[in-house]
Amino acid sequence: MKSRESITESLLENLGVGVKFDLPLAPHTSFRIGGPADFFFEALSPWELIKAVSVSRSLGIEYFILGGGSNLLVSDAGFRGLVIKNSCAALLTDGENPGVQSGFWLNELVGKTAELGLSGLEFLAGIPGTVGGAIFGNAGAFGKSIGDLLERAVVFNPDKGLETVDRDYFEFDYRSSKLKRSADILISASFQLESKAAEEVKRKTEEVRALRREKHPQNQGCIGCFFKNIKDEGRTIHAGKLLEQVGAKEMAVGEAAVFEQHANIIVNRGGARASEVKELAEMLKKRVEERFGYLLEPEVVFLGEEPEAT
Ligand SMILES: Cc1cc2nc3c(=O)[nH]c(=O)nc-3n(C[C@H](O)[C@H](O)[C@H](O)COP(=O)(O)OP(=O)(O)OC[C@H]3O[C@@H](n4cnc5c(N)ncnc54)[C@H](O)[C@@H]3O)c2cc1C
Repeated sequence: MKSRESITESLLENLGVGVKFDLPLAPHTSFRIGGPADFFFEALSPWELIKAVSVSRSLGIEYFILGGGSNLLVSDAGFRGLVIKNSCAALLTDGENPGVQSGFWLNELVGKTAELGLSGLEFLAGIPGTVGGAIFGNAGAFGKSIGDLLERAVVFNPDKGLETVDRDYFEFDYRSSKLKRSADILISASFQLESKAAEEVKRKTEEVRALRREKHPQNQGCIGCFFKNIKDEGRTIHAGKLLEQVGAKEMAVGEAAVFEQHANIIVNRGGARASEVKELAEMLKKRVEERFGYLLEPEVVFLGEEPEAT
């Protein structure tokens, strides 16, 4: 195991003075929760991103690709490795259909395609985070998911290098893709969209945004729906409905509380700790399992270990 001093030296030598140390991660997440990353680097190009991954591997330290941090619960103790913030956000032209680098903001892509009169992504309007994060978790709403629209993508795998792949490669499923089960990193993606009158696409996009503003917390930290819906013999059972019936909306642990307008959203009322969110999530899971026999699975990603209780 290399000393922290020699890791610091190698990171500075290979990635430059942009590397940061002991950087608090809370401001990099929409939950505003979490301790520091030992090392932090913002990649502005795919080349920098790949280099950061390769350097981490050669130093034997863990790394984590951070998008918008809008589906992420960072532990109070933070992360003992290198967080690579993906800020590769160029818009690419790929024939008729728009392509973007994976750090492109999803909501911005939705707006851009609407302006161009390209229809298909409207249902994603208002979902925070990057295109990379959205494809990782096959983000979606209203029964549709981003994977349905993906045309082609470039992925980087530290063992295999760069590869251009199509939609089938990702084995998309409900809130799931191959990126969750492999070391693949999404570098860029293009989408198959349909030409329509720009005014019509923009109107639909605005409708979806307005709906979201009504349903989601505006001034409190959160990471969207905490648990996945349940698929039971072809039926979708909404986790939010089950949670509502077990009294979730009245539940809180410290400053972590269930959102009063949506039982599957946990909010940070101000200064909540990751441990409080986890305790609340465990209580919610237990109540649903005891009452309905369903085991709720988190939709969110956890980063870092909680400190051992003493
Ligand atoms: C108010 C609110 C509303 C939301 N509504 C919805 C909704 O309707 N539907 C929905 O599906 N989600 C929703 N979410 C959750 C979240 O916005 C999405 O999951 C989003 O796609 C996550 O993207 P991100 O860039 O923030 O990912 P992050 O949170 O940064 O990362 C999530 C995971 O993706 C991985 N990842 C990120 N980029 C890459 C990459 N380039 N290659 C490989 N892996 C990568 C990370 O390593 C991590 O494991 C909501 C969240 C909030 C806060």
